[in-house]
Amino acid sequence: MSYQDVRVLCGKCGSDATSIENPSLDDIVTCTGCGSSDRFEDVLDSVKEHMLEQATAGISSALSTGFKRSGFDGFKPANLARKQFAWTSTVKLEV
Ligand SMILES: [Zn+2]
Repeated sequence: MSYQDVRVLCGKCGSDATSIENPSLDDIVTCTGCGSSDRFEDVLDSVKEHMLEQATAGISSALSTGFKRSGFDGFKPANLARKQFAWTSTVKLEV
């Protein structure tokens, strides 16, 4: 996986966040679209949470498909509450 072209996106409007070179946790990240801003630490937390939810959804649907192909019908994919994230990213986790 390449980390070269990862972008942090605003969860509200989908615009790019300002990029900071060598950011520290207290640096302020601002959305270039709507001007929404947060501490870098909080942005990281939100992006991590978003990635985890994406991974969970991907794994869950892969399992569901796999089980069905094997003749098991009882597997229910995780029912994820669609959360509104303050910040997301373009990182795609391959399952
Ligand atoms: Zn925004």
